[in-house]
Amino acid sequence: MSVEIITIGNELLSGTTVDTNATYIAASVIEIGLSVSRMSSVGDAPEDIINALKSVLPGTKYIIVTGGLGPTDDDRTADAAARAFGRTVELNQEALAAIEKRFAGYGAKMPFSNQRQAMLPARVEIIPNPRGTASGFIIEAAGREFIFMPGVPAEAEAMTESFIIPRLKEQSGFKQVILSKSLRVFGLWESAIQERLDGQIQEGPGLSLAYLPHFPEVRLKITGMGADPEKVRQEIARAAAVIQEKVGEYIYSVNDEPFELVVGQLLKEKKATIAIAESCTGGLISHRLTNIAGSSDYLQMGVVVYSNRAKVELLNIPQSVLDEHGAVSEPCARLMAKKVRELAGSTYGLAVTGIAGPTGGSTEKPVGTVFIGVASVEAESVTQHRFFGGREQIKLMSSHMALNNLRKCILQQ
Ligand code: AMP
Ligand code: MG
Repeated sequence: MSVEIITIGNELLSGTTVDTNATYIAASVIEIGLSVSRMSSVGDAPEDIINALKSVLPGTKYIIVTGGLGPTDDDRTADAAARAFGRTVELNQEALAAIEKRFAGYGAKMPFSNQRQAMLPARVEIIPNPRGTASGFIIEAAGREFIFMPGVPAEAEAMTESFIIPRLKEQSGFKQVILSKSLRVFGLWESAIQERLDGQIQEGPGLSLAYLPHFPEVRLKITGMGADPEKVRQEIARAAAVIQEKVGEYIYSVNDEPFELVVGQLLKEKKATIAIAESCTGGLISHRLTNIAGSSDYLQMGVVVYSNRAKVELLNIPQSVLDEHGAVSEPCARLMAKKVRELAGSTYGLAVTGIAGPTGGSTEKPVGTVFIGVASVEAESVTQHRFFGGREQIKLMSSHMALNNLRKCILQQ
């Protein structure tokens, strides 16, 4: 059975928004044994939406549509769908009740504009939205199901997972189990990983390996499918073992966990604490660590010492070090890590100083030059890097590298 995916929104055609809904939906339906016959996008113009709905590929059973269900005037999908299937638009009581309930949950009254989101074609089946106000809906016509969802990726994804996939799975009689495992790799790009794996993982109908680059790391998702769960589990474990053998030193999580969680768990296990001094990352590392519940167990202090004066006055970095080597230097990173650790009285100190650009670089220290210092009670170590990309990429890469350096330091002790 095949699925056609239509995504709606002017932003998809202007190059401002990448169509992540189509790829998410495609990957989800393929996992339950369906195939995708076509993906296309149209803008918000009702005529274009109507045309797209009327010219789906013959033989396609399900047409999954996202976008244009918001409360504003540029969201026209419900109207267009009604016109395409010759139905009237009416206030759908079930959808209205869902919107009112959501606003009541925030302790707020529903703005009038949101009532528009309950104006739906007649005789539809409602799809609950676990994340937002716009209900999805299903229109059955000519032996096909047209499934409409909002465009907001978090909402479309939640509805796909909680409603659409179970429904399609049941209707298509899919009985296999699908299991997956995601490994997170940092420090090797896709091509280098592939080179090292060198075709050693036998992919087939029951096993696949996906390379999912997620700057600044790559996630490796092993998916297994089959009738016997235990066999599927074994196949996945075998593939994971091959990956471990070939690129294990670059894998920081085998359970799809973010760096901040992995590092936090390590600190907790070792009953260790951390203090952070950040310059070019502007608090990003502290932010990431505090995204993890329970981080107060190990995070003692995070300071943003952006100016030279802050480095001198808050951390007691000697002015002479800054004069002689500059703030972006090995000695400065070393001292920042050491001093912030001493100031907080923590087990470890972590420091980042660098040039995130696009200005401020020189021939000697080009944009992307970053020093990362890790201090333990006994010693400090510093690594020097030259990162590429824009300002935010350099900041993100620096925070990743800093967390990785800290992770390695903890593991060595
Ligand atoms: P809409 O439901 O059309 O109001 O979409 C709300 C927002 O979701 C848009 O402004 C986009 O930022 C985003 N969005 C809509 N469609 C997609 C899509 N196919 N892929 C990724 N993001 C989308
Ligand atoms: Mg839209």
